[in-house]
Amino acid sequence: ALELIRRMPMEPDEAGWGALLNACRMHGNVDVGKHAAEKLLSLNPQDSGVYALLSNMYATRNRWNEPIVGIGVAKVLDSGHPDFKAGDLVWGFTRWEEFSLLSAPKTLSKVTDTDVPLSYYTGLLGMAGLTAYAGFNELCIPKKGEHVFVSAASGAVGQLVGQFAKLMGCYVVGSAGSSQKVDLLKNKFGFDDAFNYKEEPDLNAALKRCFPEGIDVYFENVGGSTLDAVLLNMRVHGRIAVCGMISQYNLEQPEGIHNLFCLITKCIRMEGFLVSDYMHLYPQFLQLTLQYVKEGKIVYVEDTVEGLENAPSALIGLFTGSNVGKQVVVVAHE
Ligand code: NDP
Repeated sequence: ALELIRRMPMEPDEAGWGALLNACRMHGNVDVGKHAAEKLLSLNPQDSGVYALLSNMYATRNRWNEPIVGIGVAKVLDSGHPDFKAGDLVWGFTRWEEFSLLSAPKTLSKVTDTDVPLSYYTGLLGMAGLTAYAGFNELCIPKKGEHVFVSAASGAVGQLVGQFAKLMGCYVVGSAGSSQKVDLLKNKFGFDDAFNYKEEPDLNAALKRCFPEGIDVYFENVGGSTLDAVLLNMRVHGRIAVCGMISQYNLEQPEGIHNLFCLITKCIRMEGFLVSDYMHLYPQFLQLTLQYVKEGKIVYVEDTVEGLENAPSALIGLFTGSNVGKQVVVVAHE
């Protein structure tokens, strides 16, 4: 990438370096990413977004011949760090391996509450949970009685967004990719309605059926044709939190969105976010969510596979929807 940039007749502008940094973050290319970040900071030293992208890139970097980084729960076997001792349970950025030597304790937190399944710290009480909490509360700014739509609604993030929305007194509809998932949404997570987007020939018509008066809040997990149909069904002053666009990640060429004009005509606010910018909310999120779980107000469905050797197929399964709930891989039992 850098060689190509050197051969260009002029240097990229801020948007170009930003796009490169984001691509490096997604692909874990730390060396090129650092270069793009330096260029961006030389153009605008106050750009705090650059630091957020950099820290996210470091935290999640994957390199050839190194184990993949992911959110995991682990037991400390030995420690030279004063904050951690043998026997402590921790969660955070671990690796796809049975034993790890982790030199960055800042990416690990102690498991404080062991009354709940430890696997919850990979999802419900970890990054997925905080993503749902921060994205819904901070970006969607929901109000009681508002109409909320969630895509990939039965997944690690979506199932929680729907439940937080119900607890707030909203009308909530979710979409998912199988009848089993639709059943979970309606009968386990308490969504008011749900549909299988794979069986809907016309997503616009499906949304009109579920939201005859329109959508106030859309929690975006998938992108593509779903986003296009949602835009047509948003209400004036609606909010869209762009959490993910999983339908686009593996495409050579991302699909175009045709209905963005609705952002103007309906005065919609659409905003992307990274959970890493909301870590300061973790303590309040943990306290509230633990309370809800213990009171039975929030339930969480996990899809567990045994053995590290099954992790690659579990990861690939996220892109075909084979996971039902938060995908968890058990590497070892306590
Ligand atoms: P999920 O547990 O929801 O698993 C992914 C699901 O996406 C699949 O089960 C499948 O469900 C659905 N899916 C896969 N491919 C497509 C497709 N082509 N079209 C529509 N749906 C598809 O994942 P998570 O809850 O962990 O993540 C949800 C989203 O949030 C992702 O986009 C992820 O990248 C994003 N994310 C963003 C974060 C942030 O900081 N912004 C942090 C964490 C996650 P189905 O069967 O219903 O199709």
